[in-house]
Amino acid sequence: MLMDGTYKHILPKIGLGTYNMTSKEAEVMTYESIKHGYRHIDTAAVYKNEDGVAKALQRIFAETNIKRKDVYITTKLWPGGLIKLDRVRNYKDTLKSFEKSLMRLNLEYVDLYLIHSPHGKTKRIDQWKSLIELKESGKVKFIGVSNWGPNHINELKENNLPLPDANQIEIHPWSQKPDLVNYLKENKINIIAYSSLVPLTTWRHKDGENSKKTTRMYEIGSSTNSPFKLLANKYNCSEAQFLLQWAIQQNFAVLPKTIDLLRMRENFDFNFFIKEDDMHYVSTLDMGDSVTWEYGDPLKVS
Ligand code: NAP
Repeated sequence: MLMDGTYKHILPKIGLGTYNMTSKEAEVMTYESIKHGYRHIDTAAVYKNEDGVAKALQRIFAETNIKRKDVYITTKLWPGGLIKLDRVRNYKDTLKSFEKSLMRLNLEYVDLYLIHSPHGKTKRIDQWKSLIELKESGKVKFIGVSNWGPNHINELKENNLPLPDANQIEIHPWSQKPDLVNYLKENKINIIAYSSLVPLTTWRHKDGENSKKTTRMYEIGSSTNSPFKLLANKYNCSEAQFLLQWAIQQNFAVLPKTIDLLRMRENFDFNFFIKEDDMHYVSTLDMGDSVTWEYGDPLKVS
């Protein structure tokens, strides 16, 4: 399944997210998901599991007919600047960070390299120029950003720099960001939605999995009358499948993360269409800002 060709690049609609996975979990889930049919794996330097993804890919290439060109691998630059001691990466540091990711991934190129957030502030432009160089060198096929809003992307315009191929952002029915979505569509920047499953009661509910998900959200999500339980019943699908299809129907790529083999299949194996009036109904459920980052919404970084 691919995005339609109206954008600068195409990418698989459903990928495996790997945030919060250990290297071993990333290895097992990357291996199993690719064998099941997934063709996009999303990792990041800061997830500290690129080596696990690498081991799985090597096994896949050795044991199956699946080749490097058949899979789409995304990783991300940690830009620095989130907390005081987190040194912001300059032009050279960015190139070095990329080389380290490439080495850990044991690959000759990555498909998509993203700046993980706008926290690099005054160094954002330098970081972006490094990504442009990486794309020109062929070590990266596509370059993009994550958690960047129009204010951040407009800085690239002001500097006459090429715009990102993609922006990876938190989107689900409770954080729909219509202005940002319109801006990205107008600028032909592919949207990759993360944390699609926030409304589920099972979303990051384990100890240490912190976020800004509100008590009200937990209450609505666990109620027997939760809108997503009712809609899932109506479409004879799971709540997770409804949430993923809601995103896909708007031409967003999705990255469901799970360490459960049954859920991994569930998050991939569905084929239904949400009717226009239900899409419209869900559009009324928006609650505003992102909730995933426990440090606060990265889109708000100046
Ligand atoms: P998600 O995919 O929206 O949801 C994952 C959570 O839902 C986990 O707690 C998982 O638990 C549970 N889950 C998964 N499938 C399920 C199902 N079918 N039924 C019930 N529960 C299910 O969350 P996410 O990890 O926040 O986001 C997805 C990916 O996006 C990340 O892994 C990462 O690759 C990317 N991401 C990027 C950023 C960024 O700043 N760029 C931020 C956040 C995420 P189990 O694992 O126990 O199944």
